[in-house]
Amino acid sequence: MKRQDPAPADPIDRSGLRPEFWRRFPLEELTRREWEALCDGCGKCCLLKLEDEDTGEVVYTSVACRLLDLGTCRCGNYPLRRQLVAGCVVMNRDNLEEIIDWMPRSCAYRLLHDGHDLEDWHPLITGDPESTHRAGISLRGRMTAEYDVDEDDLEDHVIEDQC
Ligand code: SF4
Ligand code: SF4
Repeated sequence: MKRQDPAPADPIDRSGLRPEFWRRFPLEELTRREWEALCDGCGKCCLLKLEDEDTGEVVYTSVACRLLDLGTCRCGNYPLRRQLVAGCVVMNRDNLEEIIDWMPRSCAYRLLHDGHDLEDWHPLITGDPESTHRAGISLRGRMTAEYDVDEDDLEDHVIEDQC
């Protein structure tokens, strides 16, 4: 019989938050824990992106930041991410307006910012961090490690339709 590996534990503590806080309070009024709990764990914002210099259009690739754990879709060192990866952009209330249009359309922050509700697969709805992956929202199993791709070949990995 094939052994089933246990699902990784949710690194985000989503306990004890105000009930349905995302429907009752605007993003700028969320506590720090509520803000963190909004992340669905898809990891798509950690995929390398290409920007058209003329139009400013941003497209995603399936190539993951070197610090992203391809199995869990989580940052390999969340507390030190800014120090370890110069290009890592940490989204917060102050830069939200600047970068929200770069975020994937499925991103919880973008959905709420644009006046939508969370999707029914979101861990805050399901109570299960794996629901993001089961719904096919993350690119788990479909990403390429940054180390395996030459920078000049990034265009070959564009996945604009999936984000
Ligand atoms: S795209 Fe949004 S929801 Fe997904 S990991 Fe990034 S911040 Fe979290
Ligand atoms: S360093 Fe930043 S972009 Fe890279 S995996 Fe961590 S959070 Fe994502």
